[in-house]
Amino acid sequence: MRFANLQGRAVLVVRGDDGTDRAVDIERASDGRLGSDPAVYVDLANHALLGEIAASVSANDAPALDPALLGAPVPRPPKGLGVGLNYRTHAIESGREFPTEPHFFGKTNNCVAGPFDDVIAPAGRHEIDFEAEVVIAFGRTCKGATEDDAWSYLAGVTCGQDISDRGEQFRLPIKQFTIAKSYDTFGPTGPFLVTPDEFPDRDALGLTGVVSGEVMQEANTSDLIFPIPALVAWLTRFMTFGPGDLVWTGTPGGVGEARTPQRFLVDGDVIETTVSGVGTMRNRVVVR
Ligand code: ZN
Repeated sequence: MRFANLQGRAVLVVRGDDGTDRAVDIERASDGRLGSDPAVYVDLANHALLGEIAASVSANDAPALDPALLGAPVPRPPKGLGVGLNYRTHAIESGREFPTEPHFFGKTNNCVAGPFDDVIAPAGRHEIDFEAEVVIAFGRTCKGATEDDAWSYLAGVTCGQDISDRGEQFRLPIKQFTIAKSYDTFGPTGPFLVTPDEFPDRDALGLTGVVSGEVMQEANTSDLIFPIPALVAWLTRFMTFGPGDLVWTGTPGGVGEARTPQRFLVDGDVIETTVSGVGTMRNRVVVR
């Protein structure tokens, strides 16, 4: 199933016979058994009923989905984390050794933005960088997951950007990852939350990051140093996760900071982020 946040209302996204995406309002289609908040589709407890609705709905009768009206599929994650150096290509370009265990930082929930929202780069900050990523959303309470059962805790997958102010991130003497990656709008996500069963291989998702027409990053989650099940197992040794918690699973090589010459984001840039089977997110950069 594919889910979206359409002007604050939870919708099931279905495809009409003409190939276009259609929006089925979940509260109406469930006769009020499920509410209108996007939280309903992030909760795996509702997925049996949502599956019944998906199986019975007439896609051709549903209204066309207007992408411009989409918000973040998980607009208010209780918590968000990102992982550093999770693709070998990014570890190499950063001049660092491959980690033996994952390194995380926070992405506080104020940074979440929609799939077509502007990314606001504060004026005077000249090293704002892009990081295309696959983002996972937990769908039920999770502590002590194993790599074998990790996917069963996840409601879905979406596209993400882990926008980063490199000047702040590496400001000495002790660096500051969480703040540098959590400015308002620095965590766009979307356009859809897609359940893991929709993918031919949920552990091999294609990921592409394009900036103003130039392909900057291209990878597959099969290249992750710590694959998604390993991240879930490691994190939930120590922390309890629950519905709506998000994890940015790392960015591949090709970020602006590591390029020669360096390529940081400027006013008017357009960042396009694609995950195979999810779709494409498009965010304009506005400096102000
Ligand atoms: Zn990142």
